[in-house]
Amino acid sequence: MTRSLGVCLACGEPLRYFEAAQEVTCEECSRVETAHAICQSGHYVCDQCHRARGVEHVLATCATSDLRDPIALAQQIMADDALYPNGPEHHTLAGAALLTAYRNAGGALDLSAALVELRRRSLAVPGGVCGYWGTCGAAISAGMYCSIVLGATPMTLGPWGQTARLTSRILDRLADVGGPRCCKRSTFIALQEAAAYTAETMGVTMELPAQVTCTFMARNAECLRTACPFFPKRAHA
Ligand SMILES: [Zn+2]
Ligand SMILES: [Zn+2]
Repeated sequence: MTRSLGVCLACGEPLRYFEAAQEVTCEECSRVETAHAICQSGHYVCDQCHRARGVEHVLATCATSDLRDPIALAQQIMADDALYPNGPEHHTLAGAALLTAYRNAGGALDLSAALVELRRRSLAVPGGVCGYWGTCGAAISAGMYCSIVLGATPMTLGPWGQTARLTSRILDRLADVGGPRCCKRSTFIALQEAAAYTAETMGVTMELPAQVTCTFMARNAECLRTACPFFPKRAHA
């Protein structure tokens, strides 16, 4: 499978997105389901096939990492070819990087159990929710991190609101930047906001880079370039 430019994994052609879902067949596993995007040649790759390698790479890397910086950890994971430029594997990545950095920064957490729970929750979030659900998978993943650390459930008083506050802060920043989607940009923003929120409200201070510089724009045909807060300054000219 190709990993360039966030396009069809079967042939490399651009994807076409629909407002209403259509019946499709996965090129990899032959699963028949409904979905919102096929490539210009008619190929479809299901979420399960798209994110299988990426999710396992995320969890294996986090399980052994000693990094306290969730963005450095995410960038290390993103550099592996198991992660595509965009895709639902990022819905596991954001929360896993946060859980790991939180634990490594001194937060009380059974990381192994937390990653198992995050995996279970994050696999329920499909690709494309940013455009179709009015939220973002990286923001939801950061919400899962917060929920797991605080022990939130639908019935908890404080943790329920604290978790929603974090995702609302992330979505506010994502809305300010605007579309089209970029899973790298959204992940970096989710991690910045979650680390800041954790320091403010939970007393655990993760590390963050002084400046986040994206190195993945060559693989994203829809990169906002100078309108993206992570586009390299030296490339502005
Ligand atoms: Zn194709
Ligand atoms: Zn499939």
